[in-house]
Amino acid sequence: MLERRLLPVITLILVALLVLITGLWATDRAQTITSGAGVEGADRSNQQFEWKLVTTWPKNLPGLGSAGENFARYVTEMSGGRLKVTVYGAGEIVPAFEVFDAVSQGVAEVGHGASYYWKGKIPAAVFYTAVPFGMTAQEMNGWLHYGGGLELWRELYAPFGVVPFAGGSTGVQMAGWFNRELRSAADLKGLKMRIPGLAGEVFNASGGTAVRIAGGEVYTSMQTGVIDAVEWVGPYNDRTLGLNQVADYYYYPGWHEPGAMLEFIVNERAMGQLPEDLKAIVTYATRAANQDMLDEFTARNNESLQSLLADGTQLRKLPDDVLQVLYDNSKIALEALANSDPIAGKIAASYASFATDVRAYHEISERAYLNARDKVLPPVLNTSP
Ligand code: CA
Repeated sequence: MLERRLLPVITLILVALLVLITGLWATDRAQTITSGAGVEGADRSNQQFEWKLVTTWPKNLPGLGSAGENFARYVTEMSGGRLKVTVYGAGEIVPAFEVFDAVSQGVAEVGHGASYYWKGKIPAAVFYTAVPFGMTAQEMNGWLHYGGGLELWRELYAPFGVVPFAGGSTGVQMAGWFNRELRSAADLKGLKMRIPGLAGEVFNASGGTAVRIAGGEVYTSMQTGVIDAVEWVGPYNDRTLGLNQVADYYYYPGWHEPGAMLEFIVNERAMGQLPEDLKAIVTYATRAANQDMLDEFTARNNESLQSLLADGTQLRKLPDDVLQVLYDNSKIALEALANSDPIAGKIAASYASFATDVRAYHEISERAYLNARDKVLPPVLNTSP
Protein backbone atom coordinates (compact mmCIF):
# COMPACT_ATOMS: atom_id res chain seq x y z
CA MET A 1 0.00 0.00 0.00
CA LEU A 2 2.68 2.29 1.07
CA GLU A 3 4.82 1.54 -2.01
CA ARG A 4 1.82 2.04 -4.32
CA ARG A 5 1.18 5.46 -2.74
CA LEU A 6 4.82 6.36 -3.09
CA LEU A 7 5.01 5.33 -6.75
CA PRO A 8 3.87 8.70 -8.24
CA VAL A 9 6.25 10.50 -5.87
CA ILE A 10 9.16 8.28 -6.91
CA THR A 11 8.24 8.76 -10.60
CA LEU A 12 8.13 12.51 -10.05
CA ILE A 13 11.56 12.48 -8.38
CA LEU A 14 12.99 10.37 -11.20
CA VAL A 15 11.56 12.73 -13.86
CA ALA A 16 12.89 15.72 -11.94
CA LEU A 17 16.33 14.12 -11.76
CA LEU A 18 16.23 13.35 -15.47
CA VAL A 19 15.26 16.96 -16.28
CA LEU A 20 18.03 18.21 -14.00
CA ILE A 21 20.66 15.93 -15.55
CA THR A 22 19.54 16.80 -19.10
CA GLY A 23 19.54 20.48 -18.14
CA LEU A 24 23.03 20.24 -16.70
CA TRP A 25 24.23 18.37 -19.76
CA ALA A 26 22.65 21.03 -22.01
CA THR A 27 24.17 23.87 -19.96
CA ASP A 28 27.52 22.15 -19.99
CA ARG A 29 27.27 21.68 -23.73
CA ALA A 30 26.23 25.33 -24.22
CA GLN A 31 29.19 26.44 -22.16
CA THR A 32 31.49 24.30 -24.28
CA ILE A 33 30.13 25.92 -27.45
CA THR A 34 30.46 29.44 -25.97
CA SER A 35 33.98 28.84 -24.79
CA GLY A 36 34.71 27.28 -28.16
CA ALA A 37 33.58 30.49 -29.81
CA GLY A 38 35.50 32.36 -27.15
CA VAL A 39 38.67 30.46 -27.97
CA GLU A 40 38.12 31.16 -31.63
CA GLY A 41 37.47 34.83 -30.76
CA ALA A 42 40.62 34.91 -28.63
CA ASP A 43 42.63 33.66 -31.57
CA ARG A 44 41.16 36.34 -33.81
CA SER A 45 41.67 38.96 -31.14
CA ASN A 46 45.41 38.51 -31.48
CA GLN A 47 45.23 38.92 -35.22
CA GLN A 48 46.88 42.04 -36.61
CA PHE A 49 45.23 44.12 -39.31
CA GLU A 50 46.73 46.90 -41.40
CA TRP A 51 44.50 49.30 -43.27
CA LYS A 52 45.30 51.95 -45.83
CA LEU A 53 43.22 55.14 -45.62
CA VAL A 54 43.09 57.19 -48.84
CA THR A 55 41.76 60.74 -48.83
CA THR A 56 40.55 63.34 -51.29
CA TRP A 57 42.69 65.98 -49.51
CA PRO A 58 46.31 66.97 -49.95
CA LYS A 59 48.51 65.22 -47.34
CA ASN A 60 48.68 67.10 -44.02
CA LEU A 61 45.86 69.53 -44.89
CA PRO A 62 44.58 70.90 -41.55
CA GLY A 63 40.81 70.94 -40.91
CA LEU A 64 39.33 68.61 -43.51
CA GLY A 65 42.48 66.52 -43.59
CA SER A 66 42.65 66.08 -39.82
CA ALA A 67 39.64 63.71 -39.76
CA GLY A 68 41.55 60.92 -41.50
CA GLU A 69 44.58 61.44 -39.26
CA ASN A 70 42.38 61.46 -36.14
CA PHE A 71 40.54 58.30 -37.21
CA ALA A 72 43.83 56.51 -37.85
CA ARG A 73 45.18 57.56 -34.46
CA TYR A 74 41.98 56.70 -32.53
CA VAL A 75 41.73 53.23 -34.11
CA THR A 76 45.42 52.41 -33.67
CA GLU A 77 45.36 53.59 -30.03
CA MET A 78 42.03 52.00 -29.06
CA SER A 79 42.96 48.66 -30.58
CA GLY A 80 46.40 48.64 -28.94
CA GLY A 81 47.88 48.44 -32.42
CA ARG A 82 45.85 45.38 -33.51
CA LEU A 83 44.36 47.50 -36.28
CA LYS A 84 46.89 49.93 -37.70
CA VAL A 85 45.64 52.60 -40.09
CA THR A 86 48.04 54.54 -42.33
CA VAL A 87 46.83 57.72 -44.05
CA TYR A 88 47.63 58.58 -47.68
CA GLY A 89 46.88 62.01 -49.17
CA ALA A 90 45.35 62.59 -52.60
CA GLY A 91 47.66 61.31 -55.34
CA GLU A 92 49.82 59.11 -53.09
CA ILE A 93 47.97 55.87 -53.94
CA VAL A 94 45.04 57.19 -55.98
CA PRO A 95 44.00 60.68 -57.16
CA ALA A 96 41.36 62.55 -55.10
CA PHE A 97 38.43 61.66 -57.32
CA GLU A 98 39.25 57.92 -57.37
CA VAL A 99 38.96 57.39 -53.62
CA PHE A 100 35.48 55.83 -53.80
CA ASP A 101 36.48 53.32 -56.48
CA ALA A 102 39.68 52.48 -54.58
CA VAL A 103 37.67 51.59 -51.46
CA SER A 104 34.98 49.80 -53.45
CA GLN A 105 37.59 47.64 -55.17
CA GLY A 106 39.63 47.04 -52.00
CA VAL A 107 42.73 48.93 -53.21
CA ALA A 108 42.37 50.71 -49.84
CA GLU A 109 40.27 49.51 -46.91
CA VAL A 110 39.03 52.97 -45.91
CA GLY A 111 38.61 56.40 -47.46
CA HIS A 112 37.89 59.94 -46.31
CA GLY A 113 36.34 62.53 -48.57
CA ALA A 114 33.06 64.13 -49.61
CA SER A 115 30.17 62.07 -51.00
CA TYR A 116 29.20 64.72 -53.57
CA TYR A 117 32.41 63.98 -55.47
CA TRP A 118 30.70 60.69 -56.55
CA LYS A 119 27.59 62.37 -57.92
CA GLY A 120 28.41 61.29 -61.50
CA LYS A 121 28.21 57.64 -60.39
CA ILE A 122 25.66 57.99 -57.55
CA PRO A 123 23.49 61.13 -57.99
CA ALA A 124 21.80 60.80 -54.57
CA ALA A 125 25.21 60.89 -52.84
CA VAL A 126 24.96 64.71 -52.76
CA PHE A 127 22.43 64.49 -49.90
CA TYR A 128 25.26 63.25 -47.68
CA THR A 129 27.53 66.25 -48.20
CA ALA A 130 25.29 69.23 -48.67
CA VAL A 131 21.92 70.34 -49.98
CA PRO A 132 21.73 74.04 -50.91
CA PHE A 133 19.57 75.88 -48.37
CA GLY A 134 19.37 72.56 -46.48
CA MET A 135 20.27 71.40 -43.00
CA THR A 136 23.02 72.68 -40.69
CA ALA A 137 25.70 70.44 -39.15
CA GLN A 138 23.69 69.90 -35.99
CA GLU A 139 20.60 69.01 -38.02
CA MET A 140 22.51 66.70 -40.39
CA ASN A 141 23.97 64.78 -37.44
CA GLY A 142 20.46 64.42 -36.03
CA TRP A 143 19.10 63.10 -39.33
CA LEU A 144 21.98 60.69 -39.86
CA HIS A 145 22.09 59.17 -36.40
CA TYR A 146 18.50 59.46 -35.17
CA GLY A 147 16.38 60.20 -38.24
CA GLY A 148 17.06 57.27 -40.57
CA GLY A 149 19.57 59.11 -42.78
CA LEU A 150 22.48 56.74 -42.16
CA GLU A 151 20.43 53.60 -42.94
CA LEU A 152 19.47 55.07 -46.32
CA TRP A 153 23.12 56.02 -46.97
CA ARG A 154 24.12 52.38 -46.29
CA GLU A 155 21.44 51.25 -48.75
CA LEU A 156 22.73 53.72 -51.35
CA TYR A 157 26.36 52.50 -51.12
CA ALA A 158 25.62 48.77 -50.57
CA PRO A 159 25.75 47.86 -54.31
CA PHE A 160 29.36 49.10 -54.32
CA GLY A 161 30.47 47.05 -51.29
CA VAL A 162 31.13 50.27 -49.39
CA VAL A 163 29.94 51.13 -45.85
CA PRO A 164 29.61 54.89 -45.15
CA PHE A 165 29.94 56.78 -41.85
CA ALA A 166 29.69 60.50 -41.07
CA GLY A 167 33.21 61.90 -41.41
CA GLY A 168 33.14 65.35 -39.86
CA SER A 169 31.36 68.60 -40.54
CA THR A 170 32.64 72.06 -41.31
CA GLY A 171 29.55 73.89 -40.06
CA VAL A 172 28.14 76.66 -42.28
CA GLN A 173 30.69 77.41 -45.00
CA MET A 174 31.51 80.70 -46.70
CA ALA A 175 29.95 81.40 -50.13
CA GLY A 176 33.47 81.66 -51.55
CA TRP A 177 36.19 83.83 -53.03
CA PHE A 178 35.48 86.03 -56.05
CA ASN A 179 37.89 88.09 -58.12
CA ARG A 180 35.17 90.70 -58.66
CA GLU A 181 32.15 92.01 -56.79
CA LEU A 182 28.67 90.55 -57.18
CA ARG A 183 26.20 93.44 -57.15
CA SER A 184 23.18 91.55 -58.51
CA ALA A 185 22.14 88.18 -59.95
CA ALA A 186 23.18 89.46 -63.41
CA ASP A 187 26.82 89.34 -62.26
CA LEU A 188 26.65 85.53 -62.04
CA LYS A 189 26.51 85.38 -65.85
CA GLY A 190 29.67 84.00 -67.38
CA LEU A 191 31.34 83.48 -64.01
CA LYS A 192 33.52 80.35 -63.83
CA MET A 193 33.54 78.92 -60.33
CA ARG A 194 34.90 75.88 -58.57
CA ILE A 195 31.71 74.67 -56.89
CA PRO A 196 30.89 70.94 -56.66
CA GLY A 197 27.76 68.91 -55.97
CA LEU A 198 24.17 69.93 -56.48
CA ALA A 199 25.23 73.55 -55.95
CA GLY A 200 27.32 73.28 -59.14
CA GLU A 201 24.16 72.49 -61.12
CA VAL A 202 22.40 75.38 -59.40
CA PHE A 203 25.26 77.70 -60.29
CA ASN A 204 25.06 76.60 -63.94
CA ALA A 205 21.30 77.19 -64.01
CA SER A 206 21.89 80.66 -62.54
CA GLY A 207 24.11 81.78 -65.43
CA GLY A 208 27.56 80.69 -64.28
CA THR A 209 29.81 77.75 -65.15
CA ALA A 210 30.63 75.25 -62.42
CA VAL A 211 34.00 73.52 -62.51
CA ARG A 212 35.00 70.48 -60.43
CA ILE A 213 38.56 70.86 -59.10
CA ALA A 214 40.22 68.98 -56.21
CA GLY A 215 41.57 70.92 -53.23
CA GLY A 216 45.20 70.58 -54.29
CA GLU A 217 44.56 72.55 -57.49
CA VAL A 218 42.18 75.34 -56.50
CA TYR A 219 44.89 77.89 -55.71
CA THR A 220 46.64 77.48 -59.08
CA SER A 221 43.32 77.46 -60.95
CA MET A 222 42.46 80.86 -59.46
CA GLN A 223 45.95 82.22 -59.94
CA THR A 224 46.07 81.29 -63.63
CA GLY A 225 42.53 82.53 -64.33
CA VAL A 226 41.07 79.08 -65.17
CA ILE A 227 38.30 80.10 -62.74
CA ASP A 228 36.99 83.47 -61.46
CA ALA A 229 35.67 82.23 -58.15
CA VAL A 230 36.12 79.35 -55.75
CA GLU A 231 34.25 77.99 -52.81
CA TRP A 232 36.33 75.82 -50.52
CA VAL A 233 35.31 75.76 -46.85
CA GLY A 234 35.60 78.73 -44.52
CA PRO A 235 38.24 81.02 -43.02
CA TYR A 236 40.34 78.36 -41.27
CA ASN A 237 40.80 76.03 -44.25
CA ASP A 238 40.68 78.73 -46.92
CA ARG A 239 43.56 80.59 -45.29
CA THR A 240 45.65 77.39 -45.18
CA LEU A 241 45.19 77.13 -48.98
CA GLY A 242 46.14 80.83 -49.34
CA LEU A 243 42.97 81.69 -51.25
CA ASN A 244 43.13 85.29 -49.97
CA GLN A 245 46.22 85.71 -52.15
CA VAL A 246 44.28 84.93 -55.35
CA ALA A 247 40.95 86.76 -54.75
CA ASP A 248 39.94 89.95 -52.95
CA TYR A 249 36.26 89.40 -52.19
CA TYR A 250 35.10 86.88 -49.62
CA TYR A 251 31.35 86.27 -49.69
CA TYR A 252 28.92 84.84 -47.15
CA PRO A 253 26.72 83.00 -46.26
CA GLY A 254 27.42 79.48 -47.57
CA TRP A 255 23.95 78.90 -49.07
CA HIS A 256 25.35 75.89 -50.93
CA GLU A 257 26.94 74.07 -47.97
CA PRO A 258 25.14 75.04 -44.78
CA GLY A 259 26.45 72.03 -42.84
CA ALA A 260 28.82 70.24 -45.18
CA MET A 261 29.31 66.67 -44.01
CA LEU A 262 32.37 64.62 -44.94
CA GLU A 263 32.41 60.82 -45.09
CA PHE A 264 34.39 57.82 -44.02
CA ILE A 265 33.89 54.91 -46.40
CA VAL A 266 34.96 51.39 -45.48
CA ASN A 267 35.33 48.39 -47.76
CA GLU A 268 32.53 46.02 -46.70
CA ARG A 269 34.66 42.88 -46.95
CA ALA A 270 37.51 44.41 -44.94
CA MET A 271 35.01 45.42 -42.23
CA GLY A 272 33.53 41.91 -42.25
CA GLN A 273 36.94 40.35 -41.59
CA LEU A 274 37.38 42.26 -38.31
CA PRO A 275 36.42 40.70 -34.95
CA GLU A 276 33.46 42.38 -33.24
CA ASP A 277 35.53 44.58 -30.92
CA LEU A 278 37.55 46.07 -33.80
CA LYS A 279 34.34 46.69 -35.75
CA ALA A 280 33.07 48.64 -32.72
CA ILE A 281 36.35 50.55 -32.50
CA VAL A 282 36.10 51.54 -36.18
CA THR A 283 32.50 52.67 -35.70
CA TYR A 284 33.16 54.75 -32.58
CA ALA A 285 36.37 56.21 -34.02
CA THR A 286 34.29 57.64 -36.89
CA ARG A 287 31.83 59.14 -34.39
CA ALA A 288 34.68 60.78 -32.47
CA ALA A 289 36.44 62.08 -35.60
CA ASN A 290 33.09 63.33 -36.92
CA GLN A 291 32.46 65.49 -33.85
CA ASP A 292 36.08 66.61 -33.56
CA MET A 293 36.04 68.33 -36.96
CA LEU A 294 33.10 70.57 -36.08
CA ASP A 295 34.76 71.39 -32.74
CA GLU A 296 37.99 72.40 -34.48
CA PHE A 297 36.36 74.56 -37.16
CA THR A 298 34.21 76.23 -34.50
CA ALA A 299 37.32 77.03 -32.48
CA ARG A 300 39.52 78.26 -35.33
CA ASN A 301 37.30 80.00 -37.91
CA ASN A 302 36.98 83.36 -36.25
CA GLU A 303 40.70 83.77 -35.53
CA SER A 304 41.41 82.99 -39.21
CA LEU A 305 38.73 85.42 -40.37
CA GLN A 306 40.21 88.23 -38.28
CA SER A 307 43.61 87.52 -39.74
CA LEU A 308 42.23 87.51 -43.32
CA LEU A 309 40.48 90.84 -42.72
CA ALA A 310 43.66 92.32 -41.25
CA ASP A 311 45.49 91.24 -44.44
CA GLY A 312 43.03 93.12 -46.65
CA THR A 313 40.33 90.59 -47.56
CA GLN A 314 37.06 92.34 -48.42
CA LEU A 315 34.10 90.71 -46.66
CA ARG A 316 30.80 90.85 -48.57
CA LYS A 317 27.28 89.50 -48.05
CA LEU A 318 25.60 87.93 -51.09
CA PRO A 319 22.86 90.31 -52.33
CA ASP A 320 19.29 89.15 -51.61
CA ASP A 321 18.40 88.81 -55.30
CA VAL A 322 21.42 86.52 -55.84
CA LEU A 323 20.30 84.32 -52.94
CA GLN A 324 16.73 84.26 -54.33
CA VAL A 325 17.88 83.12 -57.80
CA LEU A 326 20.13 80.50 -56.23
CA TYR A 327 17.25 79.27 -54.05
CA ASP A 328 14.80 79.08 -56.99
CA ASN A 329 17.27 77.03 -58.99
CA SER A 330 18.12 74.87 -55.95
CA LYS A 331 14.46 73.91 -55.63
CA ILE A 332 14.34 72.88 -59.31
CA ALA A 333 17.60 70.90 -59.07
CA LEU A 334 16.45 69.11 -55.92
CA GLU A 335 13.11 68.12 -57.48
CA ALA A 336 14.87 66.81 -60.59
CA LEU A 337 17.23 64.76 -58.42
CA ALA A 338 14.37 63.35 -56.32
CA ASN A 339 12.58 62.26 -59.51
CA SER A 340 15.71 60.78 -61.12
CA ASP A 341 15.55 57.35 -59.44
CA PRO A 342 13.66 55.55 -56.62
CA ILE A 343 16.46 55.64 -54.03
CA ALA A 344 17.06 59.36 -54.66
CA GLY A 345 13.32 59.91 -54.15
CA LYS A 346 13.34 57.94 -50.91
CA ILE A 347 16.35 59.84 -49.53
CA ALA A 348 14.92 63.21 -50.66
CA ALA A 349 11.64 62.45 -48.85
CA SER A 350 13.42 61.44 -45.64
CA TYR A 351 15.73 64.48 -45.80
CA ALA A 352 12.85 66.91 -46.48
CA SER A 353 10.65 65.48 -43.75
CA PHE A 354 13.40 65.65 -41.12
CA ALA A 355 14.49 69.12 -42.25
CA THR A 356 10.95 70.47 -41.93
CA ASP A 357 10.44 68.98 -38.48
CA VAL A 358 13.79 70.07 -37.08
CA ARG A 359 13.35 73.56 -38.52
CA ALA A 360 10.10 73.95 -36.63
CA TYR A 361 11.85 73.36 -33.32
CA HIS A 362 14.93 75.39 -34.27
CA GLU A 363 12.69 78.41 -34.95
CA ILE A 364 12.03 78.60 -31.21
CA SER A 365 15.41 77.29 -30.00
CA GLU A 366 18.59 77.97 -32.06
CA ARG A 367 17.23 80.93 -34.04
CA ALA A 368 15.23 82.44 -31.18
CA TYR A 369 18.24 82.21 -28.90
CA LEU A 370 20.70 83.75 -31.42
CA ASN A 371 18.22 86.57 -32.08
CA ALA A 372 17.74 87.15 -28.35
CA ARG A 373 21.50 87.18 -27.76
CA ASP A 374 22.04 89.69 -30.58
CA LYS A 375 19.44 92.00 -29.04
CA VAL A 376 21.21 92.29 -25.72
CA LEU A 377 24.88 92.08 -26.76
CA PRO A 378 26.74 94.62 -28.92
CA PRO A 379 27.74 93.40 -32.44
CA VAL A 380 31.29 92.01 -32.68
CA LEU A 381 31.75 92.09 -36.46
CA ASN A 382 30.99 95.00 -38.73
CA THR A 383 29.31 93.15 -41.60
CA SER A 384 28.58 96.19 -43.79
CA PRO A 385 28.28 96.97 -46.60
CA1 CA B 1 32.84 73.60 -49.83
